[in-house]
Formats: sequence, C-alpha cells, structure tokens
Amino acid sequence: MNQGILEGKTALVFGVANKRSLAWSIAQAWSAEGASLILGCQGERLRKNVEELAESLPKPGKVFCCDLAEDAQLESFFSEVARVAPTIDLVLHSVAFSPKDALEHELSEVKRDDFRVTFDISVYSFLAIAGHVKRRMSRGGLLLTLSYYGAEKVTPQYHIMGTAKAALEASVRYLAYELGPQGIRVNALSPGPVNTLAARGISGFTQMLKHHQETAPLRKPVDLAEVGATALFLASEGAGAITGQTIYLDCGYSILGA
Ligand code: NAD
Repeated sequence: MNQGILEGKTALVFGVANKRSLAWSIAQAWSAEGASLILGCQGERLRKNVEELAESLPKPGKVFCCDLAEDAQLESFFSEVARVAPTIDLVLHSVAFSPKDALEHELSEVKRDDFRVTFDISVYSFLAIAGHVKRRMSRGGLLLTLSYYGAEKVTPQYHIMGTAKAALEASVRYLAYELGPQGIRVNALSPGPVNTLAARGISGFTQMLKHHQETAPLRKPVDLAEVGATALFLASEGAGAITGQTIYLDCGYSILGA
C-alpha cells in the first residue's frame, strides 16, 4: 500500500462541531493521507459527537476538550497533547464566535463586551494557539486558519465579523513573519459561503449563499471536499513556499467588481 503524504505527521484540529464543519472536511483530508489527528473540542456538550467522528477517521483521532476562551483550558489541553505527541506538524484553527446581538447590530452599535468576546474567540485564540505550539513544531510545519471575504470588502450582514476576520488575516501575515525562520508557514483559507452551524448565525446567510451561487464565475457552491483538498495541498511539500497568504476558495467570487 502507498504511504500517504502526511504519514508520520501530527495535526491539531480545532473547530469540529459536526459533519458540516469546515474543520471536519480538513480533518478527513489530512487523516486520509496518514496524519495522526488530535481534535480540540469546545466542551463536554460536543465531546460525544466529536469522539464518534474522530473514531470514524481513516486513522482514528484523539479528542481533548478545550474552550479557547479559557487560558487554564489551553494550558491543560497542551499538557495532554504533550503526553501523547512529542512533535506537532500541522495546526488547524477553524473557530469563530460572536454574540448574536453583535452579529445582528450595525458596527456602530456594537457593545464593548461583545466586541471583546468576538475578537477574543475569533482572533486572539489563533495567537494563543501559535504561542503554545511554536516550540513544539521542531520540524517546522503549517498553521492554518479560516477567513472570509468580508475581511477585505464590505459584506452586508457580516458586520463585526468582517473586522475580526481582517484582524485575523493581518495576524496571519505577522505570524508568518515571526515564525518563518523556524520553518513554520502560516496561512488562511477563505472559502465562499457553506451552510454550517456558524454560518447560520449570520442573518441573511441563505440569501448570501444564493447570491454567491448565481454570480460567482463558476456558478456553483463551494464543496466541503474542495475545502479539505485545498488544506491538504497547503499541508503538502508542494506548498512549501506559501506563507502569510489568504487563499480564496470561492468559485471566483472575489475577482468581481461591483
Ligand atoms: P462550525 O460551527 O462548524 O465551526 C465553528 C467552530 O468554532 C465550532 O466547532 C465551535 O465549537 C468552535 N468554537 C466556537 N467558540 C469556541 C470556543 N470558545 N472554544 C473552542 N471552540 C470554539 O462552522 P464553520 O462554518 O465550519 O466555521 C469554521 C470557520 O470557518 C470559522 O472561522 C468561520 O468564520 C469560517 N468560515 C466559514 C464560512 C462558511 O460559510 N461556513 C466561510 C468562510 C469562513
């Protein structure tokens, strides 16, 4: 049997909630190519479901809980990881959250606390993870996060999440600069709309999806398998010169003018 291209690599995956999660399509693609996976699940409420999914991977993965809003949980998560994996090669951060109130209000109406929570979970958590893993990525590797076009251009209804994604994409560039000398690449994938749990929190998401499908040059939705396949390419040696980038995976939507 041929060896997978990620055989011998260990991957940490944050952001699997269910089968529709973008993180799940990436976990499947990495596992199918031989990576050993450790999944960070948000809390006990999701644990059983995430454990069942991890068991079903081509190479069954381990699951540890970690609420990324809690420093103490990050500490204990990484202690658990250290017990089972001496080195980490790939990290996926596929996590975002904003209180419903903040997502529904215009940016000029956002409350300080909602702003803090949105940026804490959607941006700071990526930096915190980078801080924990950088000494453990002794062979170099990849930190990958998920962004959206609303970071770059105004997308009605995306409000505060657009500003958080802009900060996330800037963080990708700064981390790529900081960690590049260690051989760690840092990138973001920016898919067009996909119907997931997080996406349904955006009001008017269904219209957004329809609009993308009708106007993107390829006139089709983004497929979950395509998200996994692009993340697999980014994890491969062929992507060894790609860092600090936001890679669009949006059927061409982002090339359009008004
Ligand atoms: P999802 O709901 O399946 O995933 C979001 C994940 O974030 C969940 O697994 C949830 O448990 C996790 N999470 C939230 N708060 C957390 C916390 N405090 N601690 C730990 N984990 C926490 O939805 P998704 O669409 O797969 O979202 C994944 C990423 O993709 C997000 O960053 C999202 O903004 C981005 N994205 C989504 C789309 C889309 O249309 N679905 C498009 C572009 C980018």
